[in-house]
Amino acid sequence: MRINEIFYSIQGEGINIGVPMVFVRVTGCNLRCRWCDTKYAFDEGTEMSIEAIFTKVDEFNVGRVCITGGEPLLYKDITKLLSRFIDAGYFVQLQTNGSRTIQEMPCEENLCISMDIKCPSSGMQDKMEFSNIELLSPFDELKFVIADETDLNYARQVIDKYQPKTNVVFQPVYGTDIKFIADAVVKEELNVRVLPQLHKIIWGEVRGK
Ligand code: SF4
Repeated sequence: MRINEIFYSIQGEGINIGVPMVFVRVTGCNLRCRWCDTKYAFDEGTEMSIEAIFTKVDEFNVGRVCITGGEPLLYKDITKLLSRFIDAGYFVQLQTNGSRTIQEMPCEENLCISMDIKCPSSGMQDKMEFSNIELLSPFDELKFVIADETDLNYARQVIDKYQPKTNVVFQPVYGTDIKFIADAVVKEELNVRVLPQLHKIIWGEVRGK
């Protein structure tokens, strides 16, 4: 498995926002979102075994890990990596871009699958695996990254159509307005959470944070 970076920070997105954890960023992504903030993960990386990844993460001694990318589900060994951490008692978060099936993923209370649905501003909305939505549990989350009213309407339509039984997060693209999203959620009494990217508020667009 090629690994782009391993670092310790706080979770800046979604339902675990603010929680300290170790991040394992895999190399490679099958999408090309217009506003991608991790292009450095497309090609750069070092080959590591599952045991070497586990050992490196375990040195931080925090018991929580986020597997991100790039796109982790491009690697066939990803379930083995998740199981290595779960079996060791870790809380594990898996961030996936929504384009690959999650049906092989373990269903565990200490595994949070954080799945994106890419909205039109990304240019990648036609690449989504919508059948994943019904596989998400109450421990997981479905995240819409929203840039404008078109994205907001799209998110509404996806929710209406698929009726997710998991946590739903609306997150503005970094640098865009969050208020129009919050206003719509309050006005329409939408059952979603509106959250910024906390790590970027704290540190800006800095790699490894
Ligand atoms: S899925 Fe993530 S890593 Fe891939 S292009 Fe989109 S934002 Fe970048």
